[in-house]
Amino acid sequence: MTDLNMFSLEGRTALVTGANTGLGQGICVAYAKAGANVVGVARRSCQETADKISAFQGSFREILADLSDISVIPRIVEEAQKAFGRVDILVNNAGIIKRCDAVDVTEEDWDAVIDVNEKMVFFLCRAFAEKWIADQKGGKIINIASMLSYQGGIRVPAYTSSKSAVIGLTRALANEWAGHNINVNGIAPGYMETNNTQNLRSDGQRSEEILSRIPAGRWGTPEDVAGAAIFLASDAAAYIHGFTLAVDGGWLAR
Ligand code: NAP
Repeated sequence: MTDLNMFSLEGRTALVTGANTGLGQGICVAYAKAGANVVGVARRSCQETADKISAFQGSFREILADLSDISVIPRIVEEAQKAFGRVDILVNNAGIIKRCDAVDVTEEDWDAVIDVNEKMVFFLCRAFAEKWIADQKGGKIINIASMLSYQGGIRVPAYTSSKSAVIGLTRALANEWAGHNINVNGIAPGYMETNNTQNLRSDGQRSEEILSRIPAGRWGTPEDVAGAAIFLASDAAAYIHGFTLAVDGGWLAR
């Protein structure tokens, strides 16, 4: 009989960025249900996430921080440690998207996307891995990638660049840290119903084009990423390194 405890996150602490809404909120709730203490990082209140978790007596704390500047990292690490002690799982979920023709992209918009989606991801990974290598107890990193880690996308060049970088970074860090018992993996969500896709879903033509290409025949939800996020954070994924798992309703298989 398989020991399903291998999927339990009981006694672990997980830090999830972008925890106030969307996929980040879904992952926080899933982790708390799986037994983890959850630290949510966001630039706005995570009250809604906290309420969802307290409804089943789960354990959640928020840290308010703007993730566009890496100078916030030492405070995040310190506050997380104060909240629950050692952080065992890091989920780099926060991300932004800016839609416009490539010829109209400004340097400011380019930097804004790369700073949150790519630079912050690397430096948060580094901050926690440094601790995990020092205490030799390992850890789990899950980076949220995208379909645009594999495809070019339409009118989102900075986003595509950043998400393609996330998948490469996930492999690069896995190579360096697998020997330290640190699993670095990714999740590539397909087209999900969150703020990120609000503009896309309200554009009738694009929305129809996308929906008709999804084999599952529906947009994804934050609940759809829960299983993959728990799995990759758990002991069940101990020998998985550098892989990005698509949760996409079959989009990439098409
Ligand atoms: P979302 O609802 O827009 O969530 C993005 C999260 O990132 C929000 O919590 C947002 O905070 C946070 N964030 C952005 N910039 C931040 C900053 N400077 N400081 C702190 N937090 C910041 O969209 P989502 O779909 O849940 O996105 C989650 C992740 O999944 C992102 O990395 C996104 O690229 C990725 N993804 C989404 C889809 C999709 O179809 N939805 C597909 C593939 C990948 P605010 O609420 O304050 O803006």
